[in-house]
Amino acid sequence: MAKPDKPKDGKDSFVTEITPRSQDFSKWYLDVVRRAELADYSPVKGFMVIRPYGYAIWELIQAALDKRIKASGHVNAYFPLLIPESLLNKEAEHVEGFAPQVAYVTIGGGEVLEEKLVVRPTSEAIIGTMYAKWVQSWRDLPILINQWANVVRWEKVTRPFLRTTEFLWQEGHTAHETGAEAETETLNILHMYKETVETEMAVPVVEGMKSESEKFAGALRTYSIEALMGDGRALQAGTSHNLGQNFAKAFDISFQARDKSVQHVWGTSWGMTTRLIGAAIMVHGDDSGLVLPPNIAPFQVVIVPIGRDNWRETVLPKAQEIQRELQAAGLRVTLDEREERPGWKFAEWELRGVPLRLEIGPKDIEKSAVLVARRDTREKQSLPMDGLPGQIRTLLDAIQKNLFERAVAFRDEHTQRAATYDEFKQVLAGRPGFVIAPWCGDASCEAQIKIDTQATIRNMPIGGSAPAGHCIRCDKPAVADAWFAKSY
Ligand SMILES: [Zn+2]
Repeated sequence: MAKPDKPKDGKDSFVTEITPRSQDFSKWYLDVVRRAELADYSPVKGFMVIRPYGYAIWELIQAALDKRIKASGHVNAYFPLLIPESLLNKEAEHVEGFAPQVAYVTIGGGEVLEEKLVVRPTSEAIIGTMYAKWVQSWRDLPILINQWANVVRWEKVTRPFLRTTEFLWQEGHTAHETGAEAETETLNILHMYKETVETEMAVPVVEGMKSESEKFAGALRTYSIEALMGDGRALQAGTSHNLGQNFAKAFDISFQARDKSVQHVWGTSWGMTTRLIGAAIMVHGDDSGLVLPPNIAPFQVVIVPIGRDNWRETVLPKAQEIQRELQAAGLRVTLDEREERPGWKFAEWELRGVPLRLEIGPKDIEKSAVLVARRDTREKQSLPMDGLPGQIRTLLDAIQKNLFERAVAFRDEHTQRAATYDEFKQVLAGRPGFVIAPWCGDASCEAQIKIDTQATIRNMPIGGSAPAGHCIRCDKPAVADAWFAKSY
């Protein structure tokens, strides 16, 4: 992986190029994305280039999730990018939901195509068409397929990772004999998403069901995991849909059941995207830049040699030896050999969020020790070279744990219940975050709340007992406790 370029306008200027987080969160975010070299804008508006450092983070998230997808019995496959328009049109709600965001291919090989082709906004239509061919009997079920792919949804306002016209994701598509099985699958995936995001990315999430107005176009029910960003806005980090038999009926995915009757399958679909990288930035980052959880850090350790003039002879060999030792222990380590001042290198690797910095100079070598600095707490300590890999591993685990606990504490501090609608509005107008309040289940009431406060229902906890009391806005009997927030 290439080292970042030196700034052209003076060596220390790049750090001050980051807008302070408290001053302008949105600008801070864009500065971090650019300065840490995670992504860049492309010649096509709304599309982004994911640079090697950003892509390395994605690969680590992908590997962690792919392992879990396979361990739970799913297999990967690949379906085409282009979908005949007539297939997308088969499921009425689905086409209505996606129509405004669809891009078409109308010319191929220099000729106008007989039928327009859709650049997939999601793959239910093409996959449903194939499942209809593959499923005949209950013996063919369940089908548990996932694909890693790109999709295109035309967006008016975009922001790197959070909302881009093209994004990368995985989409799982399953078919089952019974509705109960499909519901179990939908929830199992939701739990798997929560576990992955919390364990690997140290981002706590709330699991729950979406309201009718926020569900996936064509689904029976949509569940989501929602995270709270550093500015108090929520981010939907993953969704899992119970499709019921809607797509099976539209695409005629039917099978002969155990009792010889002909039935339609029950479907699910579920996805997580490159937007997770945005979540990691906004949950953990600070005024100095990125703070990466060790599990998704392309480099968990950076070694910076310290020394005057002849450090290449005196310090570098030992630094290289330590790098090899740590790498042999399975750690991701880089050694910064460039001819820059150590202070400049420190700031740069802080900006790029490397969890641990290891400094080594002539005095450290005399003592057979190294100086280790944590990115999350900025604490420094001297560690003996003897047994270093084990000690580094322990520190990385502590950082991973601390980042999660810090994020949970922030989320809890910014989550409250509102007793009256006035209080509800006040909270959302002031310091934002999640507000939990009873809701009547009525879509027009939900819409009015959005008009009044800009907040939407993020989700409603699964399996909770029905709330006592009345809707926060209209005072009708409540059907659920809903988690409200302004969102990305
Ligand atoms: Zn209401």
